[in-house]
Amino acid sequence: MTADSKHGSLPPSTSAPAGIDPDRTALRQFEAHAEATNDIFLVAARVIANVVEEASRILEAGDAHGPRCDPAACWDALWLAWRPYACNWKGIWWESVAVPDDVSDEEAFRAELKELATDSLALLKSAIDDGRFPALFTAEVYGSLIGMFEMNNLAIEVPSPLESYLEALDESPSTAGSLGSLRDRIEEAAQHPGEGTAYYRLACCANHSCVPNAKATRRTGLDVGGNLALIAEGPITAGEEITISYVDESEPLEQRQRALMDYGFVCSCTRCLQEEQGP
Ligand SMILES: [Zn+2]
Repeated sequence: MTADSKHGSLPPSTSAPAGIDPDRTALRQFEAHAEATNDIFLVAARVIANVVEEASRILEAGDAHGPRCDPAACWDALWLAWRPYACNWKGIWWESVAVPDDVSDEEAFRAELKELATDSLALLKSAIDDGRFPALFTAEVYGSLIGMFEMNNLAIEVPSPLESYLEALDESPSTAGSLGSLRDRIEEAAQHPGEGTAYYRLACCANHSCVPNAKATRRTGLDVGGNLALIAEGPITAGEEITISYVDESEPLEQRQRALMDYGFVCSCTRCLQEEQGP
């Protein structure tokens, strides 16, 4: 069993990682575009910001001759900073995402996704690109990051933001008291968790099986702050591959296969093969 941390969303535009001096107006335009189109752009931007921050730190630390900023050093720093994100590459978003059932023109659908991502990247570039890491601000890298999140992310429940609002209220009894019955309604609403999506660097290395030997889940009361646990469904022998189900494995073969199209593969686990052959 292992706990794994998630990546959060882009921080509010009032705070920027070290090594980045964003254009605030452009950053707000980028965020507004993402909120209106696909909020995964916010998470992809967070990765790009983290990579710039880490590469800046590496350049700042420099070598025996002190801090460096020449193109070769920038490339080396970028390569090191990018490495943690290279392991879960799945495909470029607009090329690999499954086409929804109600879309008849696949080419137009993929072109539209590419245009959305291109517009988003242009806004992000205006906001945070200082010219040191041109290889990071390319359509291929951005499309790969979005693809990585779209195809690896797990749905999670997150605590209602009203919980922390309530805590803040209760630290000021006079304010809480003046709210009267409104406070009770806030407390009631705060008990309903929000829906979120998270990328878990370790858990998403697990391949799919319709007879998985583990499940990725949040344990009520234990996995707070977005942590996730991989829990064995039974004994797992040393060297045995750990698998999880990407879809509802209680569904019949046809529904499972259709749901797995989102991940770009046809399942050939022992159960699928048996069910394909029929009773
Ligand atoms: Zn299967």
